[in-house]
Amino acid sequence: MSRLLALVLTFATISTTSLAADSARYTVIFGGQKVGHVIADTTNTRTTIDYNVKNNGRGPTMAETIEFGTDGMPTSWTISGTTTFGSKVDESFKRDRKRAIWIDSTGKGQASTKDPAIYVAQRGSPWSLQVYARALMKQPGMTMRALPGGTLKLDKRDSLEVQGKAGPLRVTRYELTGIQEDPDTMLLDDNGNLFASVSPRAVVVREGYEGEEVRLRKLAAEWSTERFATIQKEVAHDYGAPTRIRNVRVFDPKSSSLTAPVSVLVNDGKIAAVEALDSPATPGEVTIDGAGGTLIAGMYEMHGHLGQSDALLNVLAGITTVRDMGNDNAVLDDLVHRIDSGEIAGPHVIRSGFIEGKSPFNSNNGIVVDSQEKALDAVRWYGARGYWQIKIYNSMNPAWVPAMVAEAHRLGMRVAGHVPAFATADQMIEAGYDEITHLNQFALGWVIGPTEDTRTLFRLTALKRLPALDLNSAKVQHTIDLMVKGNKAIDPTLEIHENLVFNRDGTVPRGAKDYLSHLPIGTRRDAMKAYIDTSAPGDAQAYEQAFDKLIGVVRMLHERGVFIVFGTDTGGSFAYHRELELYQSAGMTAPEILKRATFDSARYIGEEQSSGSIEKGKRADFFLVPGDPTKDLKAIKTIAMVVKDGVFYYPSEAYPKFGIEPFTAAPKVTLPAGTTR
Ligand SMILES: [Zn+2]
Repeated sequence: MSRLLALVLTFATISTTSLAADSARYTVIFGGQKVGHVIADTTNTRTTIDYNVKNNGRGPTMAETIEFGTDGMPTSWTISGTTTFGSKVDESFKRDRKRAIWIDSTGKGQASTKDPAIYVAQRGSPWSLQVYARALMKQPGMTMRALPGGTLKLDKRDSLEVQGKAGPLRVTRYELTGIQEDPDTMLLDDNGNLFASVSPRAVVVREGYEGEEVRLRKLAAEWSTERFATIQKEVAHDYGAPTRIRNVRVFDPKSSSLTAPVSVLVNDGKIAAVEALDSPATPGEVTIDGAGGTLIAGMYEMHGHLGQSDALLNVLAGITTVRDMGNDNAVLDDLVHRIDSGEIAGPHVIRSGFIEGKSPFNSNNGIVVDSQEKALDAVRWYGARGYWQIKIYNSMNPAWVPAMVAEAHRLGMRVAGHVPAFATADQMIEAGYDEITHLNQFALGWVIGPTEDTRTLFRLTALKRLPALDLNSAKVQHTIDLMVKGNKAIDPTLEIHENLVFNRDGTVPRGAKDYLSHLPIGTRRDAMKAYIDTSAPGDAQAYEQAFDKLIGVVRMLHERGVFIVFGTDTGGSFAYHRELELYQSAGMTAPEILKRATFDSARYIGEEQSSGSIEKGKRADFFLVPGDPTKDLKAIKTIAMVVKDGVFYYPSEAYPKFGIEPFTAAPKVTLPAGTTR
């Protein structure tokens, strides 16, 4: 420490000795169970925090020390302990008047402190919410630059009265945006001290007030829904008038190229007309200046597990349809109803009925069955509810699959799925699967033995064996022949494989380079992490070579005419743009990829009469980019406007609601006299 800094710190300590000693104690409750505590002891300018959670024997154990400056902001912050899964934490932060330095799991960082900025602790306890809130309350607009990056914003909401041992207490709800896409919700007392941190699944509440836990969790769920309804009111523009998007070139899937500049008219949720550029406007129109950009039909994310939080984010990424590949059926039903009624934003949803076999490893999505009869009942349940397909999962008994496929086909549903444990892709194709889910599922049969169990993470780590595989070998060619002859499709989910193979601790993932710096700091740090352990000698190289092999498989499938669908399994949105980009390395051209993401996908779903291209009478589902993605596919990552069912969204307006920095400005919109939205 420099002598000057030491002097500054000494001075700061002396000037604030009026603060009294104080101990704040909180109980951590997860799904109704008391699982831990937070104890924050403050003496003068120093707070020490003991944060300990053990749920099913797992949870963080952390010791924190925070020193505060005269401005109420941390001048030093140290956090040590272990994370939920036992990895060591040794995080530190220090600042003086000139600079701030820190070390977190992603490495070292530093920044100037000329402009006010608050450090966001990576592994801070829930008590850190109080630190941020109190600092933000002193800032204009309750907004401040954050370190290592981004911006924190605090919003004050309603007050409520809570009951506990110490008597009734009035607390106020605050939402903190900027750490993750969804805000952190906290309740503060009238002194600005933390009362509780709440989410629909867990609460951290002041000792003596544990009786409020159920109510607080219920409120947290309502607040989350209310937030998305509020965002929808703020960012969805339903002009209620014919809207002319002037001077755009339209991606035409018939020619896989751009048209000459035209005007596209939207009215009442549909594409009303595509007109020559010199066609005169009619009275009462809204005009949007497309500025020579490109209009592309809304894209299809074919492997989603849609939730409230990623519904709008997908739309903002130009994705107007998500094929859901497995969900809590009632939760998804509710979400679809709220999207369709316009209460919240979201894509159209094509549903897959998830069916899993009961086992010690089973997934709990959809319906879990323990007999062939129950499996067939599940197929019928989905059939009666209009599901587009069923999806079969890892623990299904492969012997039941032929009967399930027959029943699904009889009911007009397609069948997609993982390859159940102890079966091969060949067997599932022969049993009648229409589509194979995930490239690793497709390929594993070539490298594992009949007794090796893929219900565990082995289905990922076994990829290490791929480099030795000859793609021209009889077994590989036999599987590909079966796909070609049976007219089968595949949903490779390449992007998740890329993350699995290439992501390393402390490094920006190669697939996220174009967008990660725009995301909230917590999301950024989470992304800079390895998926799998590659520390054993030769492993990293083996995985990387495995990825090359997988790309080789996709290339062969594509060359042989097997239909490839584009999906992520990782929430779509930015990951979906990367998913598309990866198919260039498997030999697909940018126009080919754009056509597949739009028109070909609509045709595959069976709705190409109403969707998939920008033509008169079709649904007004499309997006505007300033660039030309037929020349450089990356242009789809810079979106100025998205239209879904004739409702207009501008990412530059909506992204900040999620703490995301926009990628480009909105186009110029001119409203007719008397219109406000
Ligand atoms: Zn999935």
